[in-house]
Amino acid sequence: MSGAMVDLYEVLQVPRDANKDEIRKAYRKAALTSHPDKVPESEREAADVRFKDLQQAYDILYDEDKRHLYDTHGMAAFNGSGEPGMGEGPDLDDILASMFGMGGGMGGGMPGMGGRAKPRASPNEEQKYEIKLEDLYKGKTVKFASTKNVICTLCKGKGGKEKATAKKCSTCDGQGFKEVLTRMGQFLTQSTVVCSTCNGDGQFFAAKDKCKKCKGKKTNEAKKILEIYIPRGAKDGDRIVLEGEADQVPGQEPGDIIFQLEEEEHDVFKRAGADLMATIDVTLAEALAGFSRVVIKHLDGRGIELQHPKVPGQVLSPGQVLKVAGEGMPIKRSDARGDLYLLVNVKFPDEKWKPSAAVLERLKEMLPNSDAPIKADTVDEVEYDPKGNLEAFGSQDPHGGSAWEDEDEEPGTAQCATQ
Ligand SMILES: [Zn+2]
Ligand SMILES: [Zn+2]
Repeated sequence: MSGAMVDLYEVLQVPRDANKDEIRKAYRKAALTSHPDKVPESEREAADVRFKDLQQAYDILYDEDKRHLYDTHGMAAFNGSGEPGMGEGPDLDDILASMFGMGGGMGGGMPGMGGRAKPRASPNEEQKYEIKLEDLYKGKTVKFASTKNVICTLCKGKGGKEKATAKKCSTCDGQGFKEVLTRMGQFLTQSTVVCSTCNGDGQFFAAKDKCKKCKGKKTNEAKKILEIYIPRGAKDGDRIVLEGEADQVPGQEPGDIIFQLEEEEHDVFKRAGADLMATIDVTLAEALAGFSRVVIKHLDGRGIELQHPKVPGQVLSPGQVLKVAGEGMPIKRSDARGDLYLLVNVKFPDEKWKPSAAVLERLKEMLPNSDAPIKADTVDEVEYDPKGNLEAFGSQDPHGGSAWEDEDEEPGTAQCATQ
């Protein structure tokens, strides 16, 4: 990222005759304020670049031999020369950890001790993917067109013509960022913002030198057909990762596109882990006399047939649960399945049923009699509303429900009637 135009003394903001101690202090100060983990996500790429520049400047200027080379030949002495330690730098957290004894607490990216870390990846793209329970049951392949930024094939991410050299950005003096003062209450705080003129590069190509294809942006938009496979038995919250399919950023490993599954609610089935539950309706006649028929359509379209009873004379009660082993959801990466729980809803006859007195008499004879009658000394026959509603239960009680709330809100207004 550091072009030939970058002045290492400017990067560290030290005078040309700075001694080693001043260089170390300047680097330490700059590194602490521009660590990529301390800036918002949107500024992280630019901060990464800035941090790498800082590290490079420190590497060269702190080493007397390298500094002499730089003073006499400039960056040409280092670029592409295979100079040890000048290529892929170690992980930022490693540098901080070794220099300042921090890093562990600065957030992720701390690799195993002594391990050489991969270059920082461009941000992952996470998105939700809503999916029907049917598709989770059967598994599904989804294809979709994606537009993403890919490294420009003409300039290979340089942004300029092959022989052109980038110019130092005068807006930010080649830093790629600017210090701004922000007022927060009575305090002024200093913060670093990415330079909008050069997008944090500290340099850019003159109009005539810009790459024709990407116009200096270093990347182009490209359409790609992506395919994800959602395995049968996948569940809400599962993540499906398309590695390296996120936007490409010059000098960085591309991040991943990650889909997080969101299971849509189903009209018929409820899911808990690998088990399914559904309510089935049976008529009163079926509940008493039995049946043999399809009671529900499964998620793959199969009709599920039940024969009831297994033993003559057994009846189905409202709320009874029929467990069908092995007819639940598939379990990922296995042939096993959960179970299906069928909750019985007995449909009693409605107003359309007009049995004759004789039929009712016969029914009474056929069905078991009620338990022993309740005995009482006094008996009152009462009227009733056959369509009573339990929501009304308790609503007329002056001491229940709302009465005590009134007491708090408006003292002295209620509470007299029953005293
Ligand atoms: Zn280009
Ligand atoms: Zn700039």
